[in-house]
This record gives sequence, structure tokens and C-alpha cells, in this order.
Amino acid sequence: SKHRGDGGYTLFNANIEKKNLRRTSLEDKLRGAVTAGHFLVYYQPQYSLEQKRVTGFEALIRWNDPQEGWISPGEFIPIAESSGLISAIDTWTLRQALGTINTLNRETGKQYTISVNVSALQFREEGFVESILAALNATSFPPELLELEITESTAMQNVSAAIAKIEELSKRGVCFAVDDFGTGYSSLSYLNRLKADTLKIDSSFIQELDTVPEAAAVVTSVIALGKNLGMRIIAEGVETEAQLEFIQKHSCSIIQGYLFGRPMPFEELKEFLKHEA
Ligand code: C2E
Ligand code: CA
Ligand code: CA
Ligand code: CA
Repeated sequence: SKHRGDGGYTLFNANIEKKNLRRTSLEDKLRGAVTAGHFLVYYQPQYSLEQKRVTGFEALIRWNDPQEGWISPGEFIPIAESSGLISAIDTWTLRQALGTINTLNRETGKQYTISVNVSALQFREEGFVESILAALNATSFPPELLELEITESTAMQNVSAAIAKIEELSKRGVCFAVDDFGTGYSSLSYLNRLKADTLKIDSSFIQELDTVPEAAAVVTSVIALGKNLGMRIIAEGVETEAQLEFIQKHSCSIIQGYLFGRPMPFEELKEFLKHEA
């Protein structure tokens, strides 16, 4: 409180001020970043433990601002969401990813899948279903190879609307993943009703496997839950051999993590895939 007279209040305000300035400055830059070409899409491999090969990738956006340098999505995605800029960014990312993976599939003769993150705001928008279909159309991308990732909290904001949207796109072949599972406001009965294809166990649970004794029980329960609902399970954030061993023993279908491969630009990804058996 300002009555403490120890300067704490002033310091606190100065920090808030600094944060607000950074926020405003990033918001200004964000406005022009798409057209200026300052965004890039990185691709992180998803490795199937059953098929013993890379089956697809998650598209993850990167922002390289000429003045600020690399700004993490953890910092700018929330700003993009609150300023309404996220839809333009998500649309750009989706089209970019579909075009790129189309090229890759044509060049390799494979059928790699692409997982793309959908923000809560974009998912809630009136024309969401149409915008996805338009992107598929514009790129002639096979809908069965696209997986849209939504978080539990995104889906739970309006469950019946979420179910309807998922159903409509599923009819056209598009797949859905529930992202960051376990971190949000989970409702197990709703999880069943969403009829998503894939469950992504949040990396925080995977990382705790090495340190927190209870984490093992949580991870095995989530795998069992997903399997019982007929879902494919992806373990995110696998970084160590010990985590991999645990995941493998409990028959999780797919891993995504630094241990296997980091998110990388497309050119690097093509090199990476050359070394795949
Ligand atoms: P997410 O969807 O949960 O993506 C997974 C995040 O975990 C990525 O962080 C990825 O780089 C990171 N990761 C993968 N493997 C490991 C690992 O083994 N260890 C650790 N420590 N981290 C790992 P990233 O790329 O910084 O993205 C952060 C979040 O930003 C994403 O979390 C997603 O919510 C959001 N995001 C990223 N790209 C997009 C996008 O194009 N659109 C939208 N709407 N959100 C995006
Ligand atoms: Ca994701
Ligand atoms: Ca995630
Ligand atoms: Ca996340």
C-alpha cells in the first residue's frame, strides 16, 4: 500500500507501467507483422510409437521482429487474442501450414498430418467452420490430414456450440485434438461428448514424471481414459529417456517433444526427415 512509505508502491507501479508499455508496443507491431512477413511457421515432429515413424507435425508460429528479435508465442498470442488480431494470424498460419505440408507430401509421396492450434476467439467466431473449409479449399489440402487443436477451456466455454462445430468439420473429415489436457477446467462427461479424435496430455504432467511420484498415476489414468473413449493419445513435452520409457510402457500412441525433435523451420524439417529410417 502507498501508506507503507517504503517505495514498494512506486516500484510496483513502475513495473506495471513497463509491462503496459511493452504490451502496447507489441500490439502496435503485431498489427503490421503478418503483411510485413515477420511471422514464420515452425514444425515439430510427432512420432508414432506404434508405427515407429514420424506421422505428422504440429505447426507452431514464430515471430521475429526487426527491433525486438524473437518474441515467444507465450507472450504475443495473449496480446493477439485480446486485441482481436489473433484471427488474422491463425488464418495465416493455417494456410501457410496447409500449403507447406501439401508440398512435403507431394515431394515425399507420404501422407503426413498437420496439427494446427485454434485460439478460443477464432473457434468462437461465427464463420469459424467456413474459414477452415475455405483454407482447405484454397490449398486443396485433404481434410483427413488436418487436425485442429483446441484446449479444454476453449471447448468448455460453450459446450453445445463446440460440439456442433466439431461435428460439422468432422463430417468433412477434419480431425480434432483436445490440447493441454488436464490443465483446464476438465469435465470428463463433456470430453466424451466432444468426440475429438486425439487427447494431448499436457507437458507439465510428462515433465513431472521425473520428480513428482503422483505424476505416474495421473499420466496412466489419462492414457486409460483416452483409450477407453477411443482416442489417440499424444504425450507432449517428452524430454528424457526415462519419460519416453514410461510412456512406451503405458502404450501411449504418439510422442512430441524435444527428445525426439524440436520445432524447426521447413527447410530444416526436410533435412530431419531425410535421416528418418
Ligand atoms: P501448445 O499448443 O501446447 O504447443 C506446445 C508447446 O510446447 C510449444 O511451445 C512447443 O515448442 C513446446 N514444446 C514441445 N516439446 C517440448 C519439450 O520437450 N519441452 C518443452 N519445454 N517444451 C516443448 P511454443 O511454440 O512456444 O508455443 C506455446 C503456445 O503458444 C502453444 O502451446 C500454443 O498454445 C500457442 N501457439 C503456438 N503457435 C500458435 C498458433 O499458430 N496459433 C495459436 N492460436 N496459438 C499458438
Ligand atoms: Ca497445441
Ligand atoms: Ca499443448
Ligand atoms: Ca500449451
